[in-house]
Amino acid sequence: MDFQLTKEQKQIVASLDEIGKNVFAKKAARWDENHEYPWENIHQLREMGVLGMTIPKAYGGQESPLIDAVLAIETTAKYCGVTARAIVETNIGAVGCVMAYGTDAQRKLVAERILQDGDKPAIGMTEPEAGTALTDLATTAEKKGDSYVVNGTKHWITGGGISVTNLIFARFIEDGKDLGIGGILVDKGTKGFTFGTVEKAMGLRGIPETELIFKDCVVPAENVVVRGDGNEGFKKLMYGYNGQRVGASAVALGIAQGAHDLAIDYMKKRHAFGRPISEFQGLQWMMADAEMELNAARLLIYRAACNARELPNNVRLPYMDEASMAKAYTGHAALHVVSESLQMFGAAGYAQSLPLERMFRDVRMFQIGGGTTQAQKNMIARSIFNKKFSLRK
Ligand SMILES: Cc1cc2nc3c(=O)[nH]c(=O)nc-3n(C[C@H](O)[C@H](O)[C@H](O)COP(=O)(O)OP(=O)(O)OC[C@H]3O[C@@H](n4cnc5c(N)ncnc54)[C@H](O)[C@@H]3O)c2cc1C
Repeated sequence: MDFQLTKEQKQIVASLDEIGKNVFAKKAARWDENHEYPWENIHQLREMGVLGMTIPKAYGGQESPLIDAVLAIETTAKYCGVTARAIVETNIGAVGCVMAYGTDAQRKLVAERILQDGDKPAIGMTEPEAGTALTDLATTAEKKGDSYVVNGTKHWITGGGISVTNLIFARFIEDGKDLGIGGILVDKGTKGFTFGTVEKAMGLRGIPETELIFKDCVVPAENVVVRGDGNEGFKKLMYGYNGQRVGASAVALGIAQGAHDLAIDYMKKRHAFGRPISEFQGLQWMMADAEMELNAARLLIYRAACNARELPNNVRLPYMDEASMAKAYTGHAALHVVSESLQMFGAAGYAQSLPLERMFRDVRMFQIGGGTTQAQKNMIARSIFNKKFSLRK
């Protein structure tokens, strides 16, 4: 076991720290206030080779290990959570599923869109009546000749309306038979695919959370990434999704580390009772707890990323239990750390003129999106008891 970063990894961290401090941090309030997607940052990241860095070399990427992407995500999130999420979604999530299970043509197309245009693939699983109970999803992809006809509604889809590539989870129907859940790519602009409500979300407002509506949307059969196949198709997609959970955890960790760093700096400068507030032991202990939580979260995330198992086509994605532990722990710890950091600023922390208030709103998401904390704990429990629970009555 080696806890040291390689020279290349140190370079990734240093270059993103530099651009994060000098560019991303200064613009972060703008994306939040205007509900604007940070295209300027995305293009800079694309030029730096950070978008799609994990994509296999055969498709123009660098085939970087997942841990390198995690380091890039964590570092960027210290300055701008929304920008860091774009690194997650151009490297993991839908991309991981396509790279592992998709066809050669799909991998080529998705890679090209990310590496050339900065496209951020969306992953459409959740429906109004199927969130944690995802296997209740009702969207169908029905085979008709050489195509599938998609019908249904997804909601809370990150980047809906911006993303050209959308990996949609649907129930595959062939000859009137329900084959189970699989995944199909539906491009923005396809006839029958429209956008509904854009949620007025609490945080991370620079990326829209959108309703996707499919009405007799005809998609060529070659867009199928994973065909419904009993439970097998769904399992494959979920393995792919474990990567997204580790990526999301890295965003939460970065936001919390960013808030913690700001608090340390401020505590040295702010005086009360004739001395810097950093000299009060009560506050020092709050910061010591935060430091431990950040380090524990980091270890869980890095372990999940480094242990990633080999899937087809040289794609490596984390194990379910390790990804769930990283996400459940980090979601909780990061919210606590940001809240404690904000506290160090007193009233100033509660004002929109400082980033703490935004970071607090942003970090709240990570106990919900990507599977709730409770859902992660169900999965951890399942692995402890080595059991396939059925939650159904
Ligand atoms: C900002 C944001 C971005 C998102 N992005 C995406 C996206 O890109 N793509 C996508 O498909 N989805 C996305 N989602 C949706 C997200 O994955 C779901 O919100 C999440 O899975 C929970 O589903 P739900 O909201 O329907 O809650 P429910 O499933 O209705 O859960 C309600 C509550 O009950 C708890 N609960 C439910 N079942 C159990 C159980 N068996 N044991 C214990 N507790 C349980 C939950 O933890 C929760 O606290 C996003 C959500 C947010 C907030």
